Amino acid sequence: MSVVSSVCCYCGTGCGVLIETDAGKMTGVRGDPMHPANHGKLCTKGTTLHLTAQAGGRALVPELRVSRDEARQRVSWDAALDHAAERFAAIIREHGPDAVGIYISGQLLTEDYYVFNKLAKGLIGTNNVDTNSRLCMSSAVAGYKATLGADAPPGCYDDIDHAGTIFIAGSNTAYAHPILFRRIEEARKRNPDLKLIVVDPRRTDTAQEADLHLSILPGTDVALFHSMLNVMLWEELISRDYIFAHTEGWEKLRETVREYTPEKVATICGVAAADIVQAARWFAQGPTLSLYCQGLNQSSCGVDKNAALINLHLATGQIGKPGAAPLSLTGQPNAMGGREVGGMANLLSAHRDLVNPEHRAEVAQLWGVDSVPEKPGKTAVEMFEAVRRGEIKALWIACTNPAQSMPNQAMIHEALRAAEFVVVQEAFADTETVQFADLLLPASTWGETDGTMTNSERRISRVHAAVPPPGEARADWAIATEFARRLLPEQGVRLFPYESAEDVFNEHRATTRGRDLDITGLSYALLDAGPQQWPFPAGAHLGKPRLYEDGVFPTESGRARFYDAPYRPVAEPIDARYPLHLNTGRLRDQWHGMSRTGLVARLYSHVEEPLLSMNSQDMERRQLHDGDLVRVKSRRGSLVIKVQASAELRGGQGFIPMHWGGRFMAGLGVNALTLDAFDPVSRQPELKHAAVQVEKAVLP
Ligand code: SF4
Repeated sequence: MSVVSSVCCYCGTGCGVLIETDAGKMTGVRGDPMHPANHGKLCTKGTTLHLTAQAGGRALVPELRVSRDEARQRVSWDAALDHAAERFAAIIREHGPDAVGIYISGQLLTEDYYVFNKLAKGLIGTNNVDTNSRLCMSSAVAGYKATLGADAPPGCYDDIDHAGTIFIAGSNTAYAHPILFRRIEEARKRNPDLKLIVVDPRRTDTAQEADLHLSILPGTDVALFHSMLNVMLWEELISRDYIFAHTEGWEKLRETVREYTPEKVATICGVAAADIVQAARWFAQGPTLSLYCQGLNQSSCGVDKNAALINLHLATGQIGKPGAAPLSLTGQPNAMGGREVGGMANLLSAHRDLVNPEHRAEVAQLWGVDSVPEKPGKTAVEMFEAVRRGEIKALWIACTNPAQSMPNQAMIHEALRAAEFVVVQEAFADTETVQFADLLLPASTWGETDGTMTNSERRISRVHAAVPPPGEARADWAIATEFARRLLPEQGVRLFPYESAEDVFNEHRATTRGRDLDITGLSYALLDAGPQQWPFPAGAHLGKPRLYEDGVFPTESGRARFYDAPYRPVAEPIDARYPLHLNTGRLRDQWHGMSRTGLVARLYSHVEEPLLSMNSQDMERRQLHDGDLVRVKSRRGSLVIKVQASAELRGGQGFIPMHWGGRFMAGLGVNALTLDAFDPVSRQPELKHAAVQVEKAVLP
């Protein structure tokens, strides 16, 4: 028997795990007591990782169909990759590099992300490379950059133990980041004075633990945060010294928030004015650690929400000291690693920006290519719209399931049918997206691959292979490398010389020199001894748990910027025809589209099946009872689902988990209902809100 250390592949908490193996098979998983994210603990999903790894359902061999009327047939890797290279090359020759797109995933390792990004921007010459992290944290990225000057979460998990107030907004941490929530519970046991404020339309398990739950109406977060600032201003709770010494833009924001009195905002948000005042007082008292996730990010004004929360930290000086920081939680295990390598349509390696000509020139030089294209790439929703319109003709999808996870499912399916050539690089054989694949490439997955991941607190951990991949599955970075070498053989071989994940990491590391996330002091050997937080420049002995302790920010002036944006309502308000606010989100024991967790019976014991949760009075008005089948309808589609009464929801609201897709629900998941409106800056879609109607289903 042997034991291999790695990291859980689910949420952005990034728990360390020890994988036990015997005779080439995984036999168990336990928490790594030495890992600082979890100190040996795992949640239900983490403890069943080895079961998901052995549950079958894997893509084992490359499969190709040359006509849409045929089923895919097994082919060799050589034939598969040659065919892919020929199809991509022909489309690029005829229509130019922007006629192809690559859509990747926050579940890829940093090394995989790096190779795909270089493949698109360095070899093919298109910025059409985006990721499901666009659905997860792009509003947090833009919020940090707009206010603090860099996409760098300033705090760390240990701040939980130093905080006087923990302010959770738009996150059901108890379900989505369970081990972090356990740390909060333990901190509250040790320190009964530690206040917990939760902002969430639903009375989730997280909200039930709170000293103060602000059950705001969906999408009204900016009004709430501005109103809290109004109270702080009125009651002299702001830190004038910090504002004067370390920020800019205060005067303008101060005028804006004068309008947001608690009495006025109480009506907008649907909460008591006294609760807004109390939240402001506890926040200002601090030290305050804010934790936030998709409730702020998955919104058509997600950047405004992120920035309005960071305004509160800047106005009270609650940043750069123990227990005080805004700390966005990444939904996926390695969304942060993807940001580091610039694996999105608007980013470049090591937190460089595509719009910056100097950054493009630096990256071109680092990669040894003539230039990096200037034209902005298509972000997630835009990419599928371009496919549907026929502008993007070939699409390469790796390690993600957009046919289930993207909003406005009908549009996404139409796009996948319209594409001339769809490659799906995937570990699991039966996802909704695999159905659309002309070429299926079997990928290795958790427990079978080497590389690194970065969690929500900027901590980079080594991921180790414990067992070989099944069948003919290969590592994601290796598949992309082989494709690059065949697409443009001369340049491909020169630009993609990698023989191991470590080769890729070393090249990525070199691109970070002198940047805010400098990791030139890290190596696989050092990370094998334990995870480290960035920055970690050459010569460092430890990473940095907290940023901006000196009050100097990576902006032109060195000052943090207040962000002045008025409250805007949701993109699709409710009305007489569609009178119910629909919210979507995670359950405790399932993960994303269930391609992995859906394989383990034990993980259905918490919630067995997809349900619409509604307030009991809303159900009575519609003469509905628990277990009734209802038709939920939005402007984009409808689905039939069982309904249940839930005390978590206020009147006029409904909730459907994001996990069950077409494989489980007659071809339709909750994203048949959601809309693809997105934030104008971050391009993150509003998955958290759609206007729907609900009526008893009449089945044929
Ligand atoms: Fe995995 Fe997140 Fe659970 Fe930790 S808290 S075991 S990272 S799912």
